[in-house]
Amino acid sequence: AKQAYVRAKPHLNIGTMGHVDHGKTTLTAAITKVLSERGGAKYVPFDRIDRAPEEALRGITINISHVEYETATRHYAHVDMPGHADYVKNMITGAAQLDGAILVVSALDGIMPQTREHVLLAHRVGVEHVVVALNKADGADPELADLVELELRDLLAEHGYHGVPIVRVSGLRALEGDPEWEASIVALLEAVDDTVPVPVRYTDAPFLLPVENVITVTGRGTVVTGAIERGTVKVGDTVQAVGIGEGFTAVVTGVETFGKTMERGEAGDNAALLLRGVRREQVRRGQVLAAPGSQTAHRRFTARVYLLTAAEGGRHTAVADGYRPQFFLRTADVPGRMDLALEAGPGGGTENGGPTGTGIALPGDTVEVTVELGRPVAIEAGLGFAIREGGRTVGAGTVLAALD
Ligand code: GDP
Ligand code: MG
Repeated sequence: AKQAYVRAKPHLNIGTMGHVDHGKTTLTAAITKVLSERGGAKYVPFDRIDRAPEEALRGITINISHVEYETATRHYAHVDMPGHADYVKNMITGAAQLDGAILVVSALDGIMPQTREHVLLAHRVGVEHVVVALNKADGADPELADLVELELRDLLAEHGYHGVPIVRVSGLRALEGDPEWEASIVALLEAVDDTVPVPVRYTDAPFLLPVENVITVTGRGTVVTGAIERGTVKVGDTVQAVGIGEGFTAVVTGVETFGKTMERGEAGDNAALLLRGVRREQVRRGQVLAAPGSQTAHRRFTARVYLLTAAEGGRHTAVADGYRPQFFLRTADVPGRMDLALEAGPGGGTENGGPTGTGIALPGDTVEVTVELGRPVAIEAGLGFAIREGGRTVGAGTVLAALD
């Protein structure tokens, strides 16, 4: 029989971010190793994290590793991603709903472009709490590390992160068992425990889980995984799949987290739900599983959109009516069309265009728009989304109202 998950401590979702090769995966492995020696984790070696199986669903490759561990006061699910594009996709779409982030910066290299982009991204998607792991401190000149630290404080403050703990660590040396550097990992986790508060979870709201992945387990059926956004779920509940495909309702026959059975999955948990009588092809990443009747799928909606400046990685040129980028809403990635006018706005017309009313908008502008998606997706007022084009993020938006 499977082990049962005991909810003895509050659960939080965190993850590493930072420039490629600064040591995110090494640090992730080191955390599990150091905590495994203290009874708080199962050691997950570097290769198991870095070579997580790629999931090619509908032509999108998703690459994300989850590990779990416990400190004295918390249970953490921790995500690590190999590539910059994976961060953008998973963070902006909310697939990785981080309550806090560990920004990994190599003390040997200092701030690099993806360091800046991930700080900007974290701020844009609402990650409020950051702890810095100033990594590779084993090989760094302490005075150089002091300089990197000063520059980091400036960068973080520019994005509204003040009083961020910066802990000097060596993931590699901790992984090798050096007691001094093992202690640095413990200090880092203490900083995370102290800095990232337990978030408010909407456990009383109707159940909602954006589908991240679908797998078939031989002899058991179809398993859907994702982070529970709101509400709770238990065996025997009926859930409704909304968006992308045709949709269906099904009874939940199993709830698990990290291979352990759960009596009740709650908002904030990474859950795997076993669904009765559902074929794998019926479920798609981008759908949501929801309490029946609580969510509806829409192709059209109005929104307020911020277009990133070129310096933020956005476009260099204006967008016009009929602009056709890719829209990322929760775990959904769908093509669509954007018009720089608010349909059925207070004036009833479409005169409400860009800030200048010209039907074009420039990088740096905030505009009200009407979006038509290529496929219906669960939409509600207040939902955040990203606009991407050619592999980069060019805009961030919030839904004002669902149309049809
Ligand atoms: P990621 O791309 O951010 O996940 O970086 P990796 O974890 O794959 O590490 C990149 C390289 O940096 C590897 O060769 C690691 O062995 C090395 N590395 C990682 N952490 C440390 C550290 O603390 N000290 C030293 N000296 N090297 C490290
Ligand atoms: Mg890595």
